[in-house]
Amino acid sequence: MTEDRRSLFVTGLRNAHAMENQAISIIKPQLSRIENYPQVARRLEEHLRETEGQIARLEEVLVSLNEDHSTLKDWMLSAGGSMAAIGHSLADDEILKNSLANYAFENYEIAAYNSLLVMAEMGAFNSAYSALRENLAEEENMALWLSENLREVTAEFVTRREAGESAKV
Ligand code: MG
Ligand code: FE
Repeated sequence: MTEDRRSLFVTGLRNAHAMENQAISIIKPQLSRIENYPQVARRLEEHLRETEGQIARLEEVLVSLNEDHSTLKDWMLSAGGSMAAIGHSLADDEILKNSLANYAFENYEIAAYNSLLVMAEMGAFNSAYSALRENLAEEENMALWLSENLREVTAEFVTRREAGESAKV
């Protein structure tokens, strides 16, 4: 079975759409639990809004290709999405595990958009470039922030635990 460049690109866009819904299901439970790391909460809040914008951009691209975004497929692809963050809520180093998982997730998103940009190029889907580049830039900025914040959040975690403060995030 052969597939053309257009349908492969559309599948990639739908996967990205599901990935972004998964991002929301990872960020929201973290935001609802965080109390002691306000810089993390602020950045997650900002990235939640960015992610909603990314979803809107992907939907515009799909519509411009005369494709609908599949809500059902999204749901199936993202059903396990909140598991990582929920799993970490049982850990006393929840803030660290989430920091590592968030960094891994942002890098997955970066790879996904770089791959989609190659497909857009191969199929000359020029109208998709700017949306994909904007999404990519936001993921790169988020990954950079998480990377730069790792020292601070780790030091704060160690200091808090050392002082006998609660394991609450
Ligand atoms: Mg994203
Ligand atoms: Fe992201």
